[in-house]
Order: sequence, then C-alpha cells, then structure tokens
Amino acid sequence: RVKTKWATSLPRYPATNMALQNFDATYSLQLGRLWPSVRCSLLSERKYGALINNFSDHQDVVSDLQDNGCLDFVSATQREAPISSVGPERGGGESEDTAGGGEPQESPGDTGEDPPLSLSPNIKCLVFPCGDITRFKPSRPDGHRLLGYYLLDAASVLPCLALDVQEGHSVLDLCAAPGGKTLALLQTQAIRFLSLNDSSVSRTSRLTRVLHAYVPKHLLAADRLRVTSLDGRHWAEFEGNTYDRVLVDVPCSTDRHSATEEDNNIFSKIRTGERRRLPQLQMDLLLAGIKAVRPGGEVVYSTCTFSQLQNQYVVQQALHLAGQEGIQLQVVSLQPLVRMLSGTFHFAPDLLLGEMVVPHLTANFGPIYMCKLRRLC
Ligand code: SAM
Repeated sequence: RVKTKWATSLPRYPATNMALQNFDATYSLQLGRLWPSVRCSLLSERKYGALINNFSDHQDVVSDLQDNGCLDFVSATQREAPISSVGPERGGGESEDTAGGGEPQESPGDTGEDPPLSLSPNIKCLVFPCGDITRFKPSRPDGHRLLGYYLLDAASVLPCLALDVQEGHSVLDLCAAPGGKTLALLQTQAIRFLSLNDSSVSRTSRLTRVLHAYVPKHLLAADRLRVTSLDGRHWAEFEGNTYDRVLVDVPCSTDRHSATEEDNNIFSKIRTGERRRLPQLQMDLLLAGIKAVRPGGEVVYSTCTFSQLQNQYVVQQALHLAGQEGIQLQVVSLQPLVRMLSGTFHFAPDLLLGEMVVPHLTANFGPIYMCKLRRLC
C-alpha cells in the first residue's frame, strides 16, 4: 500500500498552478483567441517524432514505422508542398531586414517572395499522421549497438532545419544537452567540425551517453567533434568570428513541462529568482552565439516557450546590443519553412519576429520558437 504524502510536506500552491496562472495572464493577451485551445493541447499528451539515426542499420526501422502509418514530415513536405504553396494566414512577418542595432523592420505583407530554403535530405523524422496519437515503441539497438531512432518533440527538429547546415560547415551548438538537436544536426552528415557545449556537467554527461548510443566512434574523434562544459555566455572570449552556423537553444520556462510536471518546475517558489533571470541569460547566450559566428554565417535562436519576453524581446535586445558593438545582422525570414511544414505543424500567426510552432489537439507538438539571424559584419 502506498502511503499518502503528509499534507504539510506538499507545496501549498503547486508550481504547475503557478505556471498556469502566469500563462493565463500573459498568453491570453499574446495569443488572443488561440490561447484556450492551445492551453487545452498543452495539458494533453504531447506527440513525439522519431528522428531516424542514419548511422544505424535504419532501413528496416523506417519500413516498420511506415508500415505502422508513420510519415517522414521532412521529405513529405519537399515532395508534396512546393515552396510556393500558401501557408497559414499572416498579417506581416519579418522578411530579410537589416538590423544593425535598430529595431527589425516589419515587411508590409507576406508576398510569398522569400528565397527558397533547402532542407537537408538526410534529416528524417517520422510522425504519426494528424490526429493519430499512437505512441512509439522504444528504439532498439542494431548489430553495432547503435539505436535506430531518437524520440523527441518533432517540432524540435525545425530549428535544426532552419539552421540550413551545408557541406563542410563548422557548427557550434552552444546549449546542447541532452542532445536531441545535436543528433538532428549530425544526421545532415555535412558537418566538418561540430562543437558541443552545455554548462551543466551532469547534462553534458547525458549528452555524451546519447552520442555513444547513436553515433559511430570514428565520428566522435577530436578532429570532428568536441564536447565542452563551459558557461556559453563567455564563448567569444576564446572563440569569436569562427563558425559557419551556431545554434543557441537556450534554457527557458519550458512551458509544457511547467504546466504539467511538479518535478524540477521553474515556477516552484525556490526557483523564482532563476526564472526572473532567464531573459538576461538568454540574451547573453544569444549575444555570445552572434559573436561566435563568422561574418556571413548564421545563427538560430530557439526556445520551447510562448513567452514574448523570452523570444522576441530577447532577440530584439541582442540585435540592439550587437549593433552597439558594430555587429550588423539581418533577420532571415523562416516563412518558406513555415509554408513547407504547415501540413504537419500549427504555427502562430502574426509574429513580429521569428516563427513559433503552437500545440494543437490534432498535432500536439511544441511550443517551439525560432528566429534566424545572418551576421553581415
Ligand atoms: N539543445 C538541447 C537539446 O535539443 O537536447 C536542449 C537544450 S536546453 C533547452 C538548454 C540547455 O542550456 C540546458 O541543458 C542547460 O544546462 C544549458 N545551459 C544553461 N545555462 C547555460 C550557459 N550559461 N551556458 C551554456 N549552457 C547553458
């Protein structure tokens, strides 16, 4: 018999309630009439995707998943939704505007003239169709003891697709643990050198375990991949103007977790200070990522929160501060990506800056926010 916990040791006001109260106050303003349905999805079981591990014997794995009704949303969009297809309605959205310290300009309207985006043909992520909430079985190791797929929120793959890694690129993943996005980046098989960092030592160990479970040893050699456990805010002090691509997937209020799990909840009373400091930390990390990329290179900033304070405002502030240091940046439109993927994901309409996958009962992925910046000088 399980003994009931003494009422006195239970938190008087659960952190999940605190989170929902905060979300209701802020997101009902931000998302307007979308919020009640998004809230309902947030509290329902989330949907996963199976990121296929190209380094394993994956042919049978893919066939089995397809026989069970799964579809690869990456290749399906390239086949079925041409770049000119009409996406969800938007009032504006940023296009390729230069932001050298000033506010990014909003384009007058979506004319569908954004340049094409090539999605890596090697990233495969299988999902059950819209409305189908079948769960995946755990992945099994192949003959070389490499796992066939990694289960993650399928929307997490989008910042990696947005990063648009090309053959021979050097890539920095500044906040990499536990490694879902790292694995997606590695699947491109295009990276010359990958630098992985996470300030948490325990989470970095988890990242290393993930790498060993999915990636052959020779690809983990020091001349191809490096794992560090440093405070990413100071990255530019030892490596500035270096990388072709930088992913800045920052710690955030992890809205889905905060709304549903008491454990390790950032809305618990003892973590109030940490929660309030998040936007500053995020901005410092993004600025470090901007300084680490070479002129001409690109940075993707991503979070798993709806919060404007942690998304749009962080990007705006980082653009402003980078401009003061003489770094010119261009906001790169992700509308082509949105158009290609709107059959699988629901995107928030009318964001001023960046794009956001919002949970929906028929496609319960996200939230994932992403914004792409190109460094001009
Ligand atoms: N990109 C990861 C993935 O896809 O699996 C998830 C990253 S998680 C959203 C954010 C990470 O940032 C956490 O693992 C946390 O330890 C790390 N972090 C927090 N503060 C940091 C800092 N100052 N420098 C580097 N990493 C930091």
